[in-house]
Amino acid sequence: RESRKSNGVYVYDKAIHEKIARLALVERELRKAISNGELQVYLQPIVQTSTHDIVGFEALARFIHPTIGFVPPDEFIPIAEQSGLMVDLGDSVIKQSVQMVKKLQNGAMKGKAFYVAINVSAKQFEGHSLANKVVSLLQQHQLPTSSIRLEVTETAIMQDMDMALNELSALRENGIKIALDDFGTGYSSLSYLQTLPIDVLKIDRSFVTDLDTQENKAAIIKTVFGLANLLSLDVVAEGVETEAELKTIESIGTMNIQGYYFSAPLPWEKINAFIDSYLNI
Ligand code: C2E
Ligand code: CA
Ligand code: CA
Ligand code: CA
Repeated sequence: RESRKSNGVYVYDKAIHEKIARLALVERELRKAISNGELQVYLQPIVQTSTHDIVGFEALARFIHPTIGFVPPDEFIPIAEQSGLMVDLGDSVIKQSVQMVKKLQNGAMKGKAFYVAINVSAKQFEGHSLANKVVSLLQQHQLPTSSIRLEVTETAIMQDMDMALNELSALRENGIKIALDDFGTGYSSLSYLQTLPIDVLKIDRSFVTDLDTQENKAAIIKTVFGLANLLSLDVVAEGVETEAELKTIESIGTMNIQGYYFSAPLPWEKINAFIDSYLNI
């Protein structure tokens, strides 16, 4: 209960105590939720500039607890990573995502090419089974490997470079596209970008927010877009919230975009209705 300050004065540090209690609570309840199949996956539509066709969805994990309430991923993903829960959490997200692809293919997205992009954490590269898992799950459901993409951050790749590169290469050899998430926020050197086994650059939301009024942001996106073209990489811009941001992005080039302007991430119960009404506009 007491913590020692460097000047020798003992203080009751309530804030730290509460933080530790919250961590323990979230970890315990998250563990239960995962094993009870209560962790949810929401889908956020991804569209193409100019046509505004839906080309895919990003799968985003949701932990909504009956008493704690909504716990944001930025809180529970790090807890899962630090408490050995990340592989089970990730498996649950992958499994649900593949099932959703199957249902969409037979339902609201019938006859259309689309993908579901799944976020993966460094922990999921450990044990070298990610590529096997994903590929056999797709085979089981008789789905093309183009129907799943994986999103990975540079930070995740850096945690164990050899292991990550092995798994990513195996995934790509099977036709699964890899997106480098949060691009521009890490320490990417451009020469290294050329050697990574990736297919897509996902421009971080921080460069998209207010890009219509901040010329430096538009300049950064133009440059990244040009670079991606030179390296034959696709581009996804995330966090498009306003029409002005959309128009500015569309003036730069053809890419995939996602953001609240089109839709927030939606629970499975709402996704079909969204697609149906979107397609009928
Ligand atoms: P991310 O991969 O960069 O995901 C994009 C985040 O931006 C999501 O937050 C999404 O809800 C939010 N977003 C999308 N469009 C907009 C917009 O127009 N405006 C604003 N303000 N936000 C927008 P979310 O769902 O809270 O997820 C946060 C992070 O948690 C993700 O960032 C990802 O790093 C991580 N995460 C979520 N689900 C998973 C998962 O299943 N596995 C792993 N490993 N990480 C996950
Ligand atoms: Ca992502
Ligand atoms: Ca991102
Ligand atoms: Ca992010």
